[in-house]
Amino acid sequence: MQNLTNESPLNNIGFRRAFEAATHSPGTRYRVGAAIYIQGRFISSGWNSGKTHPQSGRRTKNICSELHAILKAKGDTKNCQIYIVRINKKLDLLPIHPCEHCRAVIEKAGIKIFHAAQNNSSFVTEELC
Ligand SMILES: [Zn+2]
Repeated sequence: MQNLTNESPLNNIGFRRAFEAATHSPGTRYRVGAAIYIQGRFISSGWNSGKTHPQSGRRTKNICSELHAILKAKGDTKNCQIYIVRINKKLDLLPIHPCEHCRAVIEKAGIKIFHAAQNNSSFVTEELC
């Protein structure tokens, strides 16, 4: 299921944490952050270590923010929700979706819902089965 909302993603604490995480990325043009929550409680965040777009051809050298956050999680990620943002130099939110590898890892980790910011005024929410 996919919903497109019409509110600033940054009104939500989950997206704010993911945004903050993205600012730690060493990338300059492609910074992605992820934050994991369970029942409103923050458990982990992560950022990409470089350009990780599936078409970059160098993805094996880098790690995606979602995977980084899952690896850093101290608690169980089962039934959690993950928030993902991508930002540019001006800190605008840009479209992002988990790559197929992260999507598989997210599902394997038992994460039930992902929220992905699409721009400064919308995000998508998808429930995983
Ligand atoms: Zn990925």
